[in-house]
Amino acid sequence: MTMFSFHPVKPITTGEGGVIVTDHEEYYLKLKRFRTHGITTENVRKNEGPWYYEMVDLGYNYRMTDVQAALGLSQLTKLDAFVQKRREIAAMYHEAFSRIPGVRIPYQLPYVDSSWHLYVLQLQLENFRVGRKEIFEALRAENIGVHVHYIPVYFHPYYQQLGYKKGICPVAEKWYEAVLTIPLFPKMSEYDIRTVMEGVNKVLSFYRK
Ligand SMILES: *Cc1c(COP(=O)(O)O)cnc(C)c1O
Repeated sequence: MTMFSFHPVKPITTGEGGVIVTDHEEYYLKLKRFRTHGITTENVRKNEGPWYYEMVDLGYNYRMTDVQAALGLSQLTKLDAFVQKRREIAAMYHEAFSRIPGVRIPYQLPYVDSSWHLYVLQLQLENFRVGRKEIFEALRAENIGVHVHYIPVYFHPYYQQLGYKKGICPVAEKWYEAVLTIPLFPKMSEYDIRTVMEGVNKVLSFYRK
């Protein structure tokens, strides 16, 4: 099964929710029941009456509303344009940030063409006088909506309490300390993009050893 999120930060949105696709009929039928309380009207004892249905699995209400679906159909017609805009911005970022010492730009394998849901810079922290936190805060002070994707999942209290100790994935943990997501969305203006590039350059230059 492949899952797509249509949360508002994603390439297209339905407000909330998403889609699951599968070519496995059994999973398809199970998913259809799962989203509607495990209820089915197929292969049930019809002689009970025309109203009859059965709950055969434990399910939830994960139904998408018609309003959300209508938004999704409209968004789908804009997907190519959205992705194209993201790729243009990413290309400008590659160009700008590949020349800045102390950062690594996202690497793409030759046969890959990302739609750039996120643009993650990796700081080479040994080049700076401060850590990621200070750089993050300085960028926020420049009014640049930076973020961090993601906190290693087992750092969260739920997994900590299950016994997953910090230190078990040293590469991911080192990576986590050094990453910074910079703004990238189709509605960015030329001015927004320049502001991000100049702000990142300014802050990194200030803190560079
Ligand atoms: C968006 C996203 C999620 C969460 O999607 P939901 O729609 O909230 O289920 C999880 N992981 C990654 C990597 C995502 O980008």
